[in-house]
Amino acid sequence: MAGHWNRERARGHRGFPTLTVRSTANNERIPAMSDPNQTVTGGCLCGSIRYEARGAPSQSLICHCRMCQRASGAPFMALLFRSSEDVKVTKGNPRIYSSSPTSGRHFCPDCGSPLFFVRHTRGLCAIAVGSLDNPNAFKPMMHVCVESAMEWPDIHDDAPRYATKPEGMTPVVDYDPVTGTVT
Ligand SMILES: [Zn+2]
Ligand SMILES: [Zn+2]
Repeated sequence: MAGHWNRERARGHRGFPTLTVRSTANNERIPAMSDPNQTVTGGCLCGSIRYEARGAPSQSLICHCRMCQRASGAPFMALLFRSSEDVKVTKGNPRIYSSSPTSGRHFCPDCGSPLFFVRHTRGLCAIAVGSLDNPNAFKPMMHVCVESAMEWPDIHDDAPRYATKPEGMTPVVDYDPVTGTVT
């Protein structure tokens, strides 16, 4: 969580494709994903915690894993990935729960809102899209970990679905809580 922005890292992470840009409902112009100065903002429900994320997002997806279900209390988590160096807390101090040896989940100690989790070993930060000020800006590019998806959500988007994660992608789940294996 460096306090400065790094233009090189902002160009993307590990070869992920850039995201499709979508207009907001009021036709507000959203900067192209390749714009390294693009900044998104977000925060928790009570307003104690605020954050900014700069740089090009490397991935946007919906994760159906059980850890995300537990952590959010929701059927799934929509996540926007940035280099962890490009995410900065601008107000308050999130509490961090180490959900695995490789990840810390940041949340508001006052209202409990999940904000983002940092994958130390990958230099990645997965922002909880629901905490963004403009959660409609990034359409999810894929569904991952659908092998543990809840049965009743009726989702009709045409984004590709992966039982675990796509081949070659930085794992969303890189820790097996049963065996303790870090991949
Ligand atoms: Zn809060
Ligand atoms: Zn997950």
